[in-house]
Parts: sequence; structure tokens; C-alpha cells
Amino acid sequence: MTKLSLGDLDLYAKRVLVRVDFNVPLRPKDTATQQNNTRYEVADDTRIRAALPTLRTIIEASGKAILLSHLGRPNGVPDSQYSLSPVAEHLSDVIGQRVRFSSDTIGPVVQKTIRSMPNSSLLLLENTRFFPGETQNDPAFAAALADLGDVFVNDAFGTSHRAHASNVGVATKMNQAAAGLLLEREIRHLGRALEAPERPMIALLGGAKVSDKIGVITNLIGIVDEIIIGGAMSYTFLKASGHSTGCSLVEDSLLNHAKAMLESAGGKLSLPKDHIISTSIDTASRSSIVSGSIPDGYMGLDIGPETVARYTRILRNARTIIWNGPMGVFEVDAFAAGTRAMATAVAEATKRGAMTIVGGGDSVAAITEAGLANSVRHISTGGGAMLEFLEGKALPGLATLTDKA
Ligand code: AMP
Repeated sequence: MTKLSLGDLDLYAKRVLVRVDFNVPLRPKDTATQQNNTRYEVADDTRIRAALPTLRTIIEASGKAILLSHLGRPNGVPDSQYSLSPVAEHLSDVIGQRVRFSSDTIGPVVQKTIRSMPNSSLLLLENTRFFPGETQNDPAFAAALADLGDVFVNDAFGTSHRAHASNVGVATKMNQAAAGLLLEREIRHLGRALEAPERPMIALLGGAKVSDKIGVITNLIGIVDEIIIGGAMSYTFLKASGHSTGCSLVEDSLLNHAKAMLESAGGKLSLPKDHIISTSIDTASRSSIVSGSIPDGYMGLDIGPETVARYTRILRNARTIIWNGPMGVFEVDAFAAGTRAMATAVAEATKRGAMTIVGGGDSVAAITEAGLANSVRHISTGGGAMLEFLEGKALPGLATLTDKA
């Protein structure tokens, strides 16, 4: 990394302003409470735990950790259902020490709280998105945040593709802005996979839309040995290459683009040859397997067994695998087999020593549900950020950090 990292900073007795990604799902804590008085608790703490190495390093070095995060989309106004207060409680439990919470995000009251904090303590500030200046990257809001710290650490990989005040604006106003341990780890794994992959390198891409992944395919096609495709996005490519796709999800406006991509890929882009089809996503409706074209009135909802076998063979030989996006409507049991089989194939490749990287909420959920999350070398905490990195784009949250001397 050419950027400052946590280890480069003198943290002793410093106010260390840390941008974390605590945008975690919440659920009502007590269903008996009234609607306007609902209390929430953290439903999935993966992102909180991912920040622990950075937070522990700051605590051990006797710094004061002042944590910034957004949660949900409160649209620039305070909204109690998006308060980070339950996250402070949860973080206290997992880190094993008190975490102070400030219902102000900026201003004199926060400054006073920070002054009174001992070294090695933690303070979580209220949701940065309660201010319109956050998503507008407003310089005045960024300056008010920068006033709270001596040094800045960005550990929020999941938002590093956005130029917001709490990750980009603030970094430009500090003397030292460094990458946290999580951000560094993400960039190291993804960067190495793109720059010096062990081969064969395979990208496994799925999900609903080709439009989300055009940039990724365009960049990866020049890097990987093969891209294997599943999910609804296959049907745009299949239709573009002359197959009937019934009423499968197809982005018709992209057919010409998809055709050109297939032609320029020179055989490096593999599409499913058989499909699990049905007349609707409803579980009760009967599904069947079809090879080649999809009949009228039917939609493709998962890759078929022949494709599963072919993709599994391809992944078996891989030394590097990057996976983003499910192979079908994996939320419905009848259409989940393809995604589950790919999760197993990725885990087995890991056991054989391959570098495996999985990202995107759905692929991570699928691999977690299959009990295989620990059988992957790197689970990325960023969906959109990972895709933009794979597109070869500079991530603003990384680009604005201080260069190493
Ligand atoms: P994405 O957010 O682009 O990764 O897409 C994930 C969504 O794509 C999931 O909710 C899947 O149910 C959906 N999906 C995957 N394959 C299909 C398909 N063949 N038809 C309809 N939706 C699909």
C-alpha cells in the first residue's frame, strides 16, 4: 500500500477519529413496546466484529477512539429508527469494555465528552447521515468532524466507493489520514488477486442485472482466465446470442452491448447450458430442468445440474476465485441448489489451497447459510465497493488517504 496505515500513526493519547462501517441490520428488541417507542438491537454483527482489530490496536496504544458511521438512509434528518445507540451497546458487549455514545455527532458537547475521556476509551457518535452534509460531502460538515480528532483512520471498506464527508471530506482536512486494518486487508486481498493472481483465475458472477456488472466484466475479462456466469444476468447474454429465454429477467436495452461483449471475450465468458425453470418464483409452482432454450411462459430461475457440474469442474482447477452474485433465486429453496453448489465448490477450492474471495450481500449470505463462511480465504465486507474495485476504479475513500512519505 502506498497509503499510510494504522501502524504508521502515533496513537498515544491521541484523539483517533475512526470511520467504521456499522451499517448493520437492526430488529425491534421488545415487540411489546409501542410503535413510537420501539427499542432496537443488532440483528447481525459481522461488520461490528470486522472493526475489532483496528479498535483493539487503538485501545492497546492508549489512543481515544472516536467512531463515526452511517446507518441506513435517514435522508439527512434525525430519525430514531436509525440511531446508532443500540450499536454502541452491542459493541460494548463484543469488545468487553464500556462504549460511550453521543447523541450529537459534531459540536461543543461532543468536544467536551472527548476531552473528559481517558486514554484507551471508546466513543460512538450518532449517525452521520442525520446531516444532509454527509452525502453531499459538504466541506463545513467535514471540517466539524475533523475538529474532533488529531488523526483520522478509515476502516469502512463498505463505503469507500462513496465520496461522503465522513470518509472523504474529513480525510482531506486532517494532517494524517490512514487506512485501518480492515480496509488494508480488503485492498491487499483484492489488489493481489487483480495484480498477481495465481492461475487459473476464475471469476464467478451472478445476480439480477448485467447493468450492475458490465464494468466488472469489461475489466476482468483482460485479467482472468475465465468468467463463469449465472443468475438472471445470464439470460440477457443468452438472448443476445440467439437463445429463447421465455419470460426470464432480461435487460433488453443491453442486448447489443451483451452481444459485443460475448464477441470480444474470445470464449472466456461461459454461460449456463441448462436451467431450472418455472412459470413463477412461487415455491408451490412446479419447476423443471431444461437444456438450451427456455420455452414461452417459463423463466430461468437457477442454473441446471449439467451447468453445476461444468462450473464445479472449472472451479476445481482454479488457483484464484472471485465470486460475486447468486446463481439463481437462492432465497427460494427450489432455486437455491446452483448457488449452494457453487458455495461448496468455492470452499473445496479453498481447502486445496486456492485464493478465494467472496463478496456481495447475497453470495456472502449463501455461503454463510451453507455453514462455509470460514472455508473461504477472504469474505469482503463491501458489495458495491468490491465491484468498483474489480472494475478498476479508484475508490475515493482510499484515494484521499495520506500518501506514505
Ligand atoms: P444482485 O443484487 O444483482 O446480486 O442480485 C441478487 C438477486 O438476484 C437475488 O435476490 C436473486 O433472487 C436474484 N436472481 C438471481 N437469479 C435470478 C433469476 N434467474 N431470476 C430472477 N432473479 C434472480
